[in-house]
Amino acid sequence: MFESLQERLSSTFSKLGGKKTLDENNIKEGLREVRLALLEADVNFKVVKQFVDQVKERAMGDEVLKGLEPGQHFIKIVNEELIELLGGEQQGLDLKAKPLKLMMVGLQGSGKTTSSGKIALFMRKQHARKPYLVPADVYRPAAIDQLNTLAKQLDCPVYPSTTDMNPVDICKDALVKAEELGCDLVLFDTAGRLAIDEVLMDELENIKNECAPQEILFVADAMTGQDAVTVAETFNEKLGITGVVLTKMDGDARGGAALSIKTVTGQSVKFVGVGEKLSELELFHPDRIASRILGMGDMMTLIEKAQSEINEDEAKAMAEKMAKAEFDFEDFLGHMKKLKKLGSMEGLLKMIPGMGNIMKQMGDNAMPEDEMKRTEAIISSMTMQERRQPKLINASRKERIAKGSGVKVADVNVLIKNFKQMSTVMQSMMGGGGKGKKKGLLG
Ligand code: GDP
Repeated sequence: MFESLQERLSSTFSKLGGKKTLDENNIKEGLREVRLALLEADVNFKVVKQFVDQVKERAMGDEVLKGLEPGQHFIKIVNEELIELLGGEQQGLDLKAKPLKLMMVGLQGSGKTTSSGKIALFMRKQHARKPYLVPADVYRPAAIDQLNTLAKQLDCPVYPSTTDMNPVDICKDALVKAEELGCDLVLFDTAGRLAIDEVLMDELENIKNECAPQEILFVADAMTGQDAVTVAETFNEKLGITGVVLTKMDGDARGGAALSIKTVTGQSVKFVGVGEKLSELELFHPDRIASRILGMGDMMTLIEKAQSEINEDEAKAMAEKMAKAEFDFEDFLGHMKKLKKLGSMEGLLKMIPGMGNIMKQMGDNAMPEDEMKRTEAIISSMTMQERRQPKLINASRKERIAKGSGVKVADVNVLIKNFKQMSTVMQSMMGGGGKGKKKGLLG
């Protein structure tokens, strides 16, 4: 999910990377890209406008944080606003309520029945709840059968609904039965239609009034994008939903619904369905999703860590060297030693945007802990001149370095190759490498 949006935003940020200050002009370009990226992700246009205005206002008004490059500062703002857009804090279910009554509503085929089963399983596993499933869709015999099948799979009690019963009566009676059985979580799987209709809405309203569910969860198929958002708005006006379950996120690469629903309905996504299996349900964490969208894993954590551990001037000097492609093995060695203080090298590299992919490509040549030691040994066997000008390292020098550090010549080659690849990434991230820029150290 969100892959396309992520790709677009990452290239936007790499363009901003080398800018020294945030001004009206470079923000304008960045904002334009963010706007296009969101529209392409099928985010509601009103939501996009509001989002972009908000980011702009903050970017212009904010003082660039000490220790951050303006580009990073812009990312920080976009990240924080994205989290808000996605609903802020993670919203779970009301765990104090007993019995907790959940009413699942939404269009036919959105995934209501499947999600009822998934939530029952989730709540039993995570919160030791005893679920009671209630088929309240009497219009489609298959719907009752489907919930019965799920109940069997989960080994969980189910109300014996039949198609000649009234849905409101079913739900009321089910509450009595649930209490008799000692169940403390009741899931009403209500009827859906292919489109919204008045009769159905009245029926749902009656169930709501008679059974007073603490949660009315609107189930939406993420693949339907903006349609899902429009329908959510209607259900919300009529019933007052308390949260959203976005299903089929495994099939939705754009994520427009997830990004629009909170702003449009005022209610947050609480769960996402990521597959057909009953276990394929996840809590929706706005902060983690935002990081994923920005393709920066845990860049924020990295920035915070760097701020606390590395002296600001040093960090700045390193960034400048990288941007100018002057970063060499000697710098690399120095910073590797400092970075070690921050934690595992592999973990750190993964926090850098784009680095996750590079590491995947490198495969076995990536940089886990003991690789670090070897790298240090190889660089230490280089002369200062070689560290400063890696281009000098020819075949005979490689042999000497390999001998000195107790590795094979092939290992030296791998390090040089990786270093070259890394400086290319760094340069593009830092905004270097463009036309007229000095070429990288290794040619
Ligand atoms: P309902 O009519 O709203 O009750 O929808 P169903 O629960 O019957 O789901 C409709 C279809 O969507 C079924 O084939 C489900 O297996 C499928 N489905 C539901 N949730 C997910 C999901 O998160 N991912 C995927 N891939 N399929 C899902």
